Amino acid sequence: MNIITPAAALAKAGGGPVKPSREEAEAAIRTLLLWAGEDPAREGLLDTPARVVRSYEEFFRGYSEDPVALLARTFEEIDGYDEMVVLRDIRIESHCEHHMVPIIGRAHVAYLPGTRVVGISKLARVVDAYAHRFQIQEKLTAQIANTINDVLQPRGVAVVIEAGHQCMSTRGVHKPGSSMVTSRMLGAFRDNSDTRKEFLAMIAGRSCTAVDV
Ligand SMILES: [Zn+2]
Repeated sequence: MNIITPAAALAKAGGGPVKPSREEAEAAIRTLLLWAGEDPAREGLLDTPARVVRSYEEFFRGYSEDPVALLARTFEEIDGYDEMVVLRDIRIESHCEHHMVPIIGRAHVAYLPGTRVVGISKLARVVDAYAHRFQIQEKLTAQIANTINDVLQPRGVAVVIEAGHQCMSTRGVHKPGSSMVTSRMLGAFRDNSDTRKEFLAMIAGRSCTAVDV
């Protein structure tokens, strides 16, 4: 049976992707339960579709956050501070866009201020805003670095992410404990090997080897 939902019908009419209703999203979860071999009418599963949809609102809240706006408020009274600002060990909770399973890890973010700095928690919120979307780690790393670079216009930005991918640990090749490391270096971090080394020394040994997936 081919069910055309109202949202799918609208999308087919050429309007691009349309957000389905909550009821449509819950129906999709019941379909997956059936596909897995379950009976969605079983007592223990009755509220599961509603719970999953609420979980999705948490996991993917990044789509309703604007990372550029998060960095809008900056401070210029920095008394000539021109050294590196580094925020280490920012927990990453994301989802792989190929398998829709968790990516769990840590990010380290650094920048060399130009004339402005930003509240340090804002760096973590930018990481979260991009992580709470469907991602691949390479794109996540680049988006964080590029946004900080574009909005703050610092002399350089560095982002390193180390993460475990459940699509590698619980399915497919089944390699728990493996982690993927990505980095993006811009400005002074790319051009000046001393700056890059200073940053890498600051985060050395901190990355979790057994990423808690
Ligand atoms: Zn995957």
